[in-house]
Amino acid sequence: MNLIDFLYKKEKNDKTKKAKTVIENDIEYSYIKNKKSKYIKISIKNANKVRISVPINCPYRLAKDFVEQKKDWIYEHLERLELNKIDENYRTKTDNLLISTGFVEKPLIKKSGNIIQFIYPIGGDFYSNEVQRELKKALKKAIEIEAGEYLPKRLDELSKKFNFKYGKLALKNHKTRWGSCSFANNINLNINLMTLSSDLIDYVLIHELCHTVEKNHKEGFWNLLETCLPNAKSLRKELKTKTFTV
Ligand SMILES: [Zn+2]
Repeated sequence: MNLIDFLYKKEKNDKTKKAKTVIENDIEYSYIKNKKSKYIKISIKNANKVRISVPINCPYRLAKDFVEQKKDWIYEHLERLELNKIDENYRTKTDNLLISTGFVEKPLIKKSGNIIQFIYPIGGDFYSNEVQRELKKALKKAIEIEAGEYLPKRLDELSKKFNFKYGKLALKNHKTRWGSCSFANNINLNINLMTLSSDLIDYVLIHELCHTVEKNHKEGFWNLLETCLPNAKSLRKELKTKTFTV
């Protein structure tokens, strides 16, 4: 388990009991007060989420200092998690990944038809940081192209179907969000969407389009979303199980 403990010195001057979330370098740090814990505990949830369980009487300041001290440890674990995610099951909306070894000096990537072929040196370690980094770089390029071909067209179709108007669309490589919509109704979409099913992609696109009318996540927003997409709730649940790969 990815966990480190720290026994803090009790202080009674911190009365806040609410959870605090800090986003730093696209990584989300959630500080959660916990009655049962005696130590500050850091656990890595996924490639971009860190949870810090804080004893009820321990000031957030101390927990933050502790996290600061453990940054190297955190980054090391985050990187390992992130890099381990790509394997032979990886696929994009239109392409499959084919992994093999061969007489190559450095990892090599070729795309033919709907196959992304990845060849790494014989005797090399597929899960080594070096090989995984190269693979990730190549996959990023591949899904960037796919995203450019698919997302603008699909967003346009859906906006017409449900009668929404949006400003500009930008494709991004965020580490924490699938999409966002600004106050000027400009929409950002994550290129990692290309690794999801069509239904989930539509969910994110329609979700952002609904934000052109309802800016917050209050009842009006969810009602509007469900009018467009009756199974929005179950899609939202499914989306929560997905992570970013590149
Ligand atoms: Zn939203």
